[in-house]
Amino acid sequence: MAHHNTDKLARRGLMFILSSPSGAGKTTISHMLLTADEEIKLSVSVTTRPKRPGEIDGVDYHFVTDAQFDRMVEEDDFYEWAEVFGKKYGTPKGYIRKGLKEGQDFLFDIDWQGTQQLKQKDDQDVVTVFILPPSLDELRSRLEGRAQDSADVIDRRMDRARGEISHWAEYDYVVINDDVDQCFVKVREILHAERMRRTRQTGLIPFVRELTS
Ligand code: 5GP
Repeated sequence: MAHHNTDKLARRGLMFILSSPSGAGKTTISHMLLTADEEIKLSVSVTTRPKRPGEIDGVDYHFVTDAQFDRMVEEDDFYEWAEVFGKKYGTPKGYIRKGLKEGQDFLFDIDWQGTQQLKQKDDQDVVTVFILPPSLDELRSRLEGRAQDSADVIDRRMDRARGEISHWAEYDYVVINDDVDQCFVKVREILHAERMRRTRQTGLIPFVRELTS
């Protein structure tokens, strides 16, 4: 008699998109999720912006020149791409399509433009979560606390944050990041529940057939 581990039925992977204005905690929540959950891995974007201190090529981003990026666009290597502050950012597509089929989940740390493009291409596999800061004052002090950017850049990020926040209603889920640990628990619950969607559980048909035979 076959013993099924019902947690391990085959399923299709999902694309889990976390968006927020920069400074709202998305990167911290992403790291926590990637550490806690081995079934999800980060989709590493390609960008033309310079590397920040502490960032690693191939881990945080694939850092490329403008010419390299344009070539990838021409060769249709991107799922989606966008220009932010005059720099380009894109999601390379080949390995994601393959991974989804094999049940691999991918985490995306992208903005609302990229989210819209991904949803248009593959709505079934996409789950979107928007993280809101508790207030704009708190957002500014978090940006200042990072001390990586000049006052001018922070002002521009604050302007952009207001713009980003205006897209909140386009997301499946919205979580306010008042307390980072509580925010993480909520985001993780969303991921767990979404994995259980009937349509993602491709192993259910053979499982139920055997159950009822
Ligand atoms: P940062 O330069 O602070 O890492 O990112 C700037 C913005 O670009 C963020 O809002 C980030 O979510 C967005 N971004 C990063 N990677 C991608 C991507 O692959 N596609 C799109 N559309 N946006 C991205």
